Amino acid sequence: MPKTNTAMQLASIQQQILDDKICPELAATATQLVFGDGNPNADIVFIGEAPGKNEDEQGIPFVGAAGKFLNEMLESIGLKREDIYITNIVKYRPPNNRDPLPEEKKAFLPYLQSQLEVIAPKVVVTLGRHSTNCFLPDLQISKAHGEPKRVKLQFKQSQDVLEVVILPLYHPAAALYNGGMRQTLLDDFAAIPLIIKKLKS
Ligand code: URA
Repeated sequence: MPKTNTAMQLASIQQQILDDKICPELAATATQLVFGDGNPNADIVFIGEAPGKNEDEQGIPFVGAAGKFLNEMLESIGLKREDIYITNIVKYRPPNNRDPLPEEKKAFLPYLQSQLEVIAPKVVVTLGRHSTNCFLPDLQISKAHGEPKRVKLQFKQSQDVLEVVILPLYHPAAALYNGGMRQTLLDDFAAIPLIIKKLKS
């Protein structure tokens, strides 16, 4: 699919979530839908778990403490938020930041897939186990973090196939107060430019 009108197509997916009344219980306790942010034509898409308090208030993913750390890591590899696209699996804040439920992840998955189909990135960075296991269900993040995997994403509606590299990483929130994990995440991040360069050559 050509990368034209991506912003408009994304806006229509966002509206569809509202029209389809996805997860009405979550919608009722959340302030707003947190759909996604960044460059709709990015080569690299980051996928987190679900919005937290700050994200719920501002309507933008990763703007709290984990987001600040993510921005620092992006900067460490010469990228800015405007260079990437970022979203979550679940697009409403779960009450008290509880883990998203399996049925909530399942309900939002088709919309996440549509976002990926429209953006058609080369690399998908999954942040944490919830996001990783949406694409690679059997993978253990503690064993496979930082190891890129080539995956064919099959889109149900259009029957299109998108070949992407999935890079599973620890979630930045988990690494915030854990020095060892923080360094591991920084080291895994450092591999991203090489992965992109290889894919472009
Ligand atoms: N954690 C996430 O997984 N997503 C956000 O948007 C913020 C924190």
